[in-house]
Amino acid sequence: MLIEFGERTTKKHAVVIGAGFGGLACAKKLRRSDAYSVTLIDRNPYQLFSPLLYQVATASLPEDDIAFPVRTAYREVQFVRGEVTNVDATAKKLTLANGKIISYDDLIFAVGSEGTTFGIPGVAEHAFQMKSVSDAREIRRSLLRTYESVEDGLLPLENLNVVIVGGGPTGVELAGAVRELQQEIQREFEHIAPKASVTLLEAGPRLLPSFHPRSSKYTLKTLTKMGVQVEVDAAVVEATSRSLRLKDGREIIAGTRIWAAGVVAPPHWKFLGETDRGNRIKVNSNLQLNDAIWVVGDAASYPDKNGCPLPMIAPVAIQQGKHVARQIRRRESSKPLEVFKYRDKGQMATIGRRKAVVEMRSWLRFQGSLAWLTWLALHLAYLSGGRNRTSIFADWVWNYIVWTPRRTITD
Ligand SMILES: Cc1cc2nc3c(=O)[nH]c(=O)nc-3n(C[C@H](O)[C@H](O)[C@H](O)COP(=O)(O)OP(=O)(O)OC[C@H]3O[C@@H](n4cnc5c(N)ncnc54)[C@H](O)[C@@H]3O)c2cc1C
Repeated sequence: MLIEFGERTTKKHAVVIGAGFGGLACAKKLRRSDAYSVTLIDRNPYQLFSPLLYQVATASLPEDDIAFPVRTAYREVQFVRGEVTNVDATAKKLTLANGKIISYDDLIFAVGSEGTTFGIPGVAEHAFQMKSVSDAREIRRSLLRTYESVEDGLLPLENLNVVIVGGGPTGVELAGAVRELQQEIQREFEHIAPKASVTLLEAGPRLLPSFHPRSSKYTLKTLTKMGVQVEVDAAVVEATSRSLRLKDGREIIAGTRIWAAGVVAPPHWKFLGETDRGNRIKVNSNLQLNDAIWVVGDAASYPDKNGCPLPMIAPVAIQQGKHVARQIRRRESSKPLEVFKYRDKGQMATIGRRKAVVEMRSWLRFQGSLAWLTWLALHLAYLSGGRNRTSIFADWVWNYIVWTPRRTITD
């Protein structure tokens, strides 16, 4: 079945796959084009704000706050909920899991990435990943329910231990937040809670490897002070139902095991073109795979000035999404296409309440409370939707003054 949308007869049809950071940025900018009607497709009816997933996993934010509903977000954009399973670049058509076929004149491919276990035995079965709302919900349930099960004598005390693998921003943020949760929850489980621990494992020589070594050092010191046990040069070789085994033979026993070590683009789409080691599709300097297909965000492999693929982060996806919309409009006005240039605005990671590291330029780095406030402000600014912004702001103020873990009926 061929689906025709909107003013297809008079306008060209731009189809965006993925309502994430890159796809939404593109659809938003392209929606007012006189020449195009825009269709946005996603398997979920919301944009997930992944940078705050760890706060859902550690019971400080409700999941609705980090999911921005896209169905009615932009009046001019037609939203289709569905899983795209195939793209026929020759026929300019794509297929949805329900068998429907949609034709396009321009396709913006913004499908993001997924977690990878690097094939390490047992990780897929015995460790949580944190890519989706349901992953965060599962982690939260494990963190909270374990206390009740241990108190009831159904599980041994060692199950209160949490181990997190991956010393990048996600692992660091999660480790700090889990530790704070463990400390706050002591009020509820006085006898058992002091036994709980968090271990953060990093295979490389330092935490936050993409940051300046001074930021890594500050992060290590701060996490250690908070009571997180940090181990660097600690490669995991196996996960079991009760532990993680390290390369040096040691076994770390933990009831909750979280894998925050690495993402790749979905391998399913490798057939579309040449890909890099992370399955990301290599694109030309205009972010094109061919004249009609543009790739943005985590799914695109685009080199930085040193020839390494740009990082899989939201600002890259947003800038690329906007760039593609601009190029499509330029082409309509018979203007030459522009080369994509990434404007690196820096990086940041929060470690705990009032503790963060921010790097804006090679010479502008700061830490502590100011960095934490900067982190809060920028995350609020990046969030879509005034309602989500207000609700998260209120939650943060509340958490800062009186902290109680958020419970839901599913916990
Ligand atoms: C836990 C976590 C924390 C992060 N923290 C940060 C951070 O602090 N700062 C930062 O800059 N970046 C962070 N990132 C990375 C950032 O979220 C990504 O770089 C960004 O989301 C990439 O944008 P995107 O548009 O390429 O993909 P996404 O935002 O992931 O969007 C892809 C969309 O495509 C949809 N989709 C995929 N396949 C299909 C299909 N076949 N059919 C239909 N729909 C499909 C998905 O449902 C999704 O909505 C984090 C990521 C994670 C997982």
